Amino acid sequence: MNKLYLSALAVLGLSTSALAQDARISISRAPEGSAITRRACGSMEVLEAQLAADPAQAQRMAAIEAHAQRVMASPNLQRTAAGTVIIPVVVHVLYNTAAQNISDAQVQSQIDVLNEDFRKLNADVSKTPAQFAGLAADANVQFVLAKRTPTGAATNGIIHKQTKTASWSTNDAVKNSKRGGDDAWDATKYLNLWACNLGQGLLGYAQFPGGSASTDGVVILYSAFGSRAKYSAGTYTTTYDLGRTATHEVGHWLNLRHIWGDASCGNDLVSDTPTQQTSNYGCPAFPHVTCSNSGDMSMNYMDYTDDKCMYMFSTGQSARMNALFATGGARAGLLTSLGGTAPRAAATTTLATAYPNPTSDVLNLSLPAGADAGRATVHVFDLAGHEMKQISYDSRGQVRVGSLPRGLYYITVGTGADVTRQRFEKE
Ligand SMILES: [Zn+2]
Repeated sequence: MNKLYLSALAVLGLSTSALAQDARISISRAPEGSAITRRACGSMEVLEAQLAADPAQAQRMAAIEAHAQRVMASPNLQRTAAGTVIIPVVVHVLYNTAAQNISDAQVQSQIDVLNEDFRKLNADVSKTPAQFAGLAADANVQFVLAKRTPTGAATNGIIHKQTKTASWSTNDAVKNSKRGGDDAWDATKYLNLWACNLGQGLLGYAQFPGGSASTDGVVILYSAFGSRAKYSAGTYTTTYDLGRTATHEVGHWLNLRHIWGDASCGNDLVSDTPTQQTSNYGCPAFPHVTCSNSGDMSMNYMDYTDDKCMYMFSTGQSARMNALFATGGARAGLLTSLGGTAPRAAATTTLATAYPNPTSDVLNLSLPAGADAGRATVHVFDLAGHEMKQISYDSRGQVRVGSLPRGLYYITVGTGADVTRQRFEKE
């Protein structure tokens, strides 16, 4: 490990012993193909591998950490409670067998669980021990299946894709169409969830803020995706069938650490969660006293307990997650996403049009009556939805696309509440 890597680990509250401990956890996983007998999450191993491969990621994460600490320390930098963050979600269902192709209803049941857990609307929060009841938090974050694709087309936010891959690992192939998976949608505008046959005895893994956009999001074992209590006809594994794997992993995606800090009596970078020895499994009786605390917060979503025995985030965890949405926060782009808003039907809208088509250099926009060319928002995407940043647009309604490689593209033109979308050819 190089010096930068080690100092970055220190900033992130990690230690080399934490990583060693994580390796010990990985050894205890269920063998491939057998039933999962205890919770295992791959997020810290993936983080370790990413930091080793890309030292710049440690610097990005250190900046995100400094921002989070600054926001948490200053009430007037914190996002006001009045605005609930609504996160558009795309679910990529990758299936090799029919059983792995979970239904839209099962997917919806997972979204419903997230909306309960992140708003403290889950009924089982009432089980929280009196000692922690005042800390159980409404994180004020909600989730909605996407209604609009990155290129502006209508969608229900769920992609079902058959694959030849029988089992996936934490190598992120599931997030790559060229490797048998399905590409991420723009991570600044969507939460990407992949439901697939994740192997290695893992229930899921997430990427923390600060990682690569192309792999941003959360991967979950298809049979731990959704809730048997909400949709009993789905395909579920026992014990992990109430949708809490996604709650835990989305917690990581929103910058939460494991509650034991991934070390013996470690630091989870949140002040109101008790220091605890290590992960808890199953359904521990309360109090389980370790590290001189007055009881582990084993019912926290960021422990390793069974789905039915985890039911709260703390106030400090909520503040840490919400720092990402404050000014300058790593996930603040989601606040302006139109992904959760349906595109208006073309038949009822006067469309913006771009001409000539094909073009070699300039597209001229013809805008609906009353629209101001200087205020239109113009984006160009390739057919896979990647934005082409090298184009320019001027207030006379001209889009310069001469620097694009030849091929087919989409242009989206936003005027007021309307976004129209047109395919064009660069020749
Ligand atoms: Zn985890």
